[in-house]
Amino acid sequence: MFNKILIANRGEIAIRIMRACRELDVESVAIYSDADATSLYTKYADESYPLGNPSPAKSYLNIDKIIDIALESGADAIHPGYGFLAENPKLGEECEKNGIKLIGPSGKVIHEMGDKITSKNLMKKAGVPVIEGTPEGVSDIEEAKEIARQIGYPVIVKASAGGGGIGMRAVYEENELVRAIESTQSVASTNFGDSTVFIEKYLEKPRHIEFQILADEHGNVIHAADRECSIQRRHQKLLEEAPSPIMTEELRARMGESAVKAAEYIGYTSAGTIEFLYDDGNYYFLEMNTRIQVEHPITEVVTNLDLIKEQIKIADGQELQYDQSDIKVSGHAIECRINAENPLNDFAPNPGKITGYRSPGGPGVRLDSGVYMNYTIPTFYDSMISKLITWGATRNDAIARMRRALSEYIILGVKTTIPFHKAILRNPNFIKGDLNTHFIDMYKKGIDE
Ligand code: ADP
Repeated sequence: MFNKILIANRGEIAIRIMRACRELDVESVAIYSDADATSLYTKYADESYPLGNPSPAKSYLNIDKIIDIALESGADAIHPGYGFLAENPKLGEECEKNGIKLIGPSGKVIHEMGDKITSKNLMKKAGVPVIEGTPEGVSDIEEAKEIARQIGYPVIVKASAGGGGIGMRAVYEENELVRAIESTQSVASTNFGDSTVFIEKYLEKPRHIEFQILADEHGNVIHAADRECSIQRRHQKLLEEAPSPIMTEELRARMGESAVKAAEYIGYTSAGTIEFLYDDGNYYFLEMNTRIQVEHPITEVVTNLDLIKEQIKIADGQELQYDQSDIKVSGHAIECRINAENPLNDFAPNPGKITGYRSPGGPGVRLDSGVYMNYTIPTFYDSMISKLITWGATRNDAIARMRRALSEYIILGVKTTIPFHKAILRNPNFIKGDLNTHFIDMYKKGIDE
């Protein structure tokens, strides 16, 4: 087992990884920018090293500096968490050159799955259902129009290098297509340095259902069931649950088999997620996330796995200690992302000082938080400050616990998504499990009032 792991991240996920390290008796190393000098995770770590300038490019994305700190601290592995360098194949290359183990999949797989066109084509070859669309980047407008006509409107124009919900636009009529292609190309080029876009069928009311994968370096691949992530704002998840309210044993077996097939086909190792859009009895590969995800705790809660420890053990060369038949889903879990955002102002970030803080607790409640009383949330990074997770024997029990936990959770000084979650948890359609990716848009008006 590793002696010391450097966590190339910040906030709640840094603490989450350090907790796994501590249980495995491995020391943890934190890195922090000037803006994070007082962040909770720097206090949790066994050792902390400064990165200086808070801009992400100069701190948490600065591979050279991070490798230097790993070498200086004697860390033998790096865990990138999610975001920042988690899906950057260069980190793995630099780790390898310096004799450090990266806790994650190979650079080749990260590269292939990071590109939406490449990954879709690979999945098609693997026999996993994909959404009908252009097999390569759009280069000719007339050709694009022809293909869109064949697919049938609405279609969606998507940046092949896109991520974080950025770089996609639904198009309902042919006369909007050219503008959508041009604007998506420009967004893609600015955000990802790659203007390649493609077109696929736009599913109007799909559910986002994803499968957790675990794959070791000995060829064992299993899935750890499903998560429903249809509650999104601006194509970003806000509330997730496991299992999906529509899941049946039969559907799980089918979708899970596709997810495992996908991971096997590309030679995946580590924890990862296969995302699907589900529409009217059919499901389609959307993308693969080659990292641990924000919403991993709901899977942990219903399967009893510790996904971060599994990642670390896999990177250490250990074999999975169970097979597919050992994975059982017990009860129901919900996660609410607590963001320092103003839900009444289109979820605008609302960083600042936390002037009052009380965390929820009691039966079936888990809080993965990166903040504390009197902490000042920096402006430079993501607005998520904590994740509230509840478990119940049934979905209704998990909902009741989440309502109770949200009522206990007090954060003063900054606006948060807590009131918004409270409203969702009372929404009759949410309670029925009647969800699709437009849930928030459709119900925001009612919830706002
Ligand atoms: P990103 O990599 O930016 O997260 P994804 O491809 O994973 O982008 O898509 C994010 C979300 O965008 C999905 O959960 C879904 O809500 C929406 N979306 C993407 N593609 C489609 C599509 N073809 N039809 C309908 N919605 C889509």
